[in-house]
Parts: sequence; C-alpha cells; structure tokens
Amino acid sequence: MEAKDVKEMAAGRWESIFARLAPQLEKAVDRAPNHVPCPVHGGTDGFRLFRDFNDTGGGVCNTCGIKHDGYATLMWVNGWDFKTTHEALQDALGVGGSSQPIPKVTSKPVAKKVKEKDVEDIRDSLNHVWKNSVALSSPEARPARKYFANRGITNVDFRKIDSKMIRFVPSLEHYEEDPNDGKFKLTGMYPAIVAMVCDASGRPSTIHRTYLTADGTKAPVQSPKKMMRHCADDLFGAMQIALLGNSKVLAITEGIETALAVMSAFNIPAWAAGNAYLLEHFVPPKGVDVVIYADKDQPSKQHPEGHGQGSAKLLLKRLWAEGIKASIKIPEGNIPQGMKSVDWLDVVSGAIQAPTMKTVAR
Ligand SMILES: [Zn+2]
Repeated sequence: MEAKDVKEMAAGRWESIFARLAPQLEKAVDRAPNHVPCPVHGGTDGFRLFRDFNDTGGGVCNTCGIKHDGYATLMWVNGWDFKTTHEALQDALGVGGSSQPIPKVTSKPVAKKVKEKDVEDIRDSLNHVWKNSVALSSPEARPARKYFANRGITNVDFRKIDSKMIRFVPSLEHYEEDPNDGKFKLTGMYPAIVAMVCDASGRPSTIHRTYLTADGTKAPVQSPKKMMRHCADDLFGAMQIALLGNSKVLAITEGIETALAVMSAFNIPAWAAGNAYLLEHFVPPKGVDVVIYADKDQPSKQHPEGHGQGSAKLLLKRLWAEGIKASIKIPEGNIPQGMKSVDWLDVVSGAIQAPTMKTVAR
C-alpha cells in the first residue's frame, strides 16, 4: 500500500491512531488545538495539534517545527524512520488483517492547518517585536547588560556580537496561557533580550525572548524564556549571536548565556541552538569547524547519559558523517549536589570548582 492510500484511510482516525501508536500525545489530543508541553523537547506550552488533526494528524511545536501530517508527527514523536511508520500505520489500520482495524470517528469541525491568516498574524507579531528592539550596546539596554553581569558573564565585547541577530526590547508584552480556557493572557510588560532563531538554511524564522526586570534579573513569571510562534519547518540554524568574521571555528552551545560566556572566555565566535533538541539537529554554516560546548545534564530515564551529553554526541556523529570537523567539550567533574546540570557558563563564571575540560576530537 502506498503512503497516500494509508493517509486516505487514516483520515478521521488520527485520534485513535495516536492513542495506539503514540500515547505520549494523549495530553495534546485532549487539549487540541490548545498548547501543551512538547512531548519531544519538553518545556511548558510549545506544542499543539492542529484543530483538524483527526483528519490530518498534523501539529506544531514552536521549537521542533511543523509536522504537516500524521506520518511526520509519528516519525518525530517516536523517532521512527519512514518505513517503520508506514508499517505501523498499516498494521493499526488493519491492512493485511493482522489486527483489529481502528474505527473512524467523526472529527470536530474542520479548519485548515496553518491558515494564511495565521501566517500573517505570526509575521506581524515577529515584526512588532523586532521593530521595537535596540542594540545591546545602546544606553536603553542596561537591564540586558546587568543581566549578563549578574549571570557571571563579564567582558562581553559587543563588537563581536551580531546586532542584527540579538537585541533588546525595553518593554515587551508577556503572555501566559490560562489553564482554564487555553487562551493566552497578558501578564505584564517587561524588558527582554530578543534573539533571532534561523532555520537550517540560515533564514531568520522566529524570535527567542528572555524576559527581565529593570535590575537585570529574570522576570517574575512562570516562563521567562520563550520562543515565539513561527511557520518554519525547522529551527536548526541556531541563534547566530556572534559575528563569524573570518573565523574557521564556530562554537555551538544550548543557551544564549553559555554562548556569550564561551565567546568571552575562549575568544571564539559562538552561536546558541536554544535547547538540547535543537543542538542535536544543528546545521552549521559551510566551511567552519564546529566545537560543541555541551551542557552536562543529570541522567534521566529518557536520557540515560544526560540529555545535553547525548544530544552533543548525536550532533558530533552526524557532523563527522558529513565530513565536517567537530569536537565536544564537556565540563569535567561531577554535577554538584542539588543541581540538575552544569554548563560552560557555570565553569567560566566560577560557579563550579575546578574548571577543567574533557575533549573528544577527531
Ligand atoms: Zn518541541
């Protein structure tokens, strides 16, 4: 059976298909089309299934990107390849008679996935934020510079920063989702550091925001760091916060603060992927050697070797396979009691002892 026939059969059945093949989507199914934590990268409210997901199987995560149909959703959420997905779907649909076929249920009223209006709204809000931004070196951006200093990032050379990619908004709306009705409500206005996130081809795609107070601490809100909505297929081009100049080497980190710390302490241009998931899928620009300054995370059930370390290794393997020179630097030593992880910002700022490093290189 061809994929297009499977899709035709699956239309109107995705709710049941997910229940059988991807139980981790249960919350998203229950709350569709409202936002829930992403089943792949975590967070608080980045993921939602489309209003018509029962027909298409599609959804979108503000970090992981758009999954246009159920194939894409299953491949992403289960880490399956196409063949596995194709077979599991045929099995679930009872093709070949091996199992009880999934019945069709009438879907909720249909609305098209990412509508033109949506795309326009997203573009308008991205433009609104960027239009009100100023350079980090401008007098108004003092809360941002204080925040860096408070985090232990000293000596940031603003001439090395790409002011077209990371900026500051003196007063930016902060919204949070109301758990009662799933609608986003304004919680206040805060200063914010804003960074452009690019897709795999380097196109600016969305904005990452870090909400602050005037004193340069994180804003007193549930999620002070948030990715804006977007309609890109991926966000694998990172936040290109440092100017590359004619450097042959590029450092990549998870967080913005870590990138600034690495850039300042080791004098190499550094970009920030945003999180472990995006780091794992990072696509560097052509012609550079990549040094992955990994976060060292406590092992968990889902990530037995630690999420940061695991993602860094997967990125390293892929870059090597593509013929790109790459290495990993992981903070040495144990993660101190009571901490979930250690990153290079902790090392550089002296928050942890004995800043030695372990290198894997080729
Ligand atoms: Zn995600």
